[in-house]
Amino acid sequence: MIESQSPSGCRRCGRPERNHFTWYTATGKHVYEPPTQTQIKARMLSRRASRRAENAAVEANSAVAARLRAAADLLASEDRPPSMSH
Ligand SMILES: [Zn+2]
Repeated sequence: MIESQSPSGCRRCGRPERNHFTWYTATGKHVYEPPTQTQIKARMLSRRASRRAENAAVEANSAVAARLRAAADLLASEDRPPSMSH
């Protein structure tokens, strides 16, 4: 899973300033550079979107679990011997 980026993380690598120091990327080493307003905004939006996606996934899982429970109940009731009285 992708580590959630801090909106104020480095412009070049996204690491937060407090534990950035000198960081090496594929293009070489660099020091923390504050992100642009556009980057901050984009990161906040993507964070919000991924949080929403996580919530949706949790809801979908619990919906599936509820359906499985209902199916199990149905199977359990079908296992019961038929009633003798009609
Ligand atoms: Zn960086």
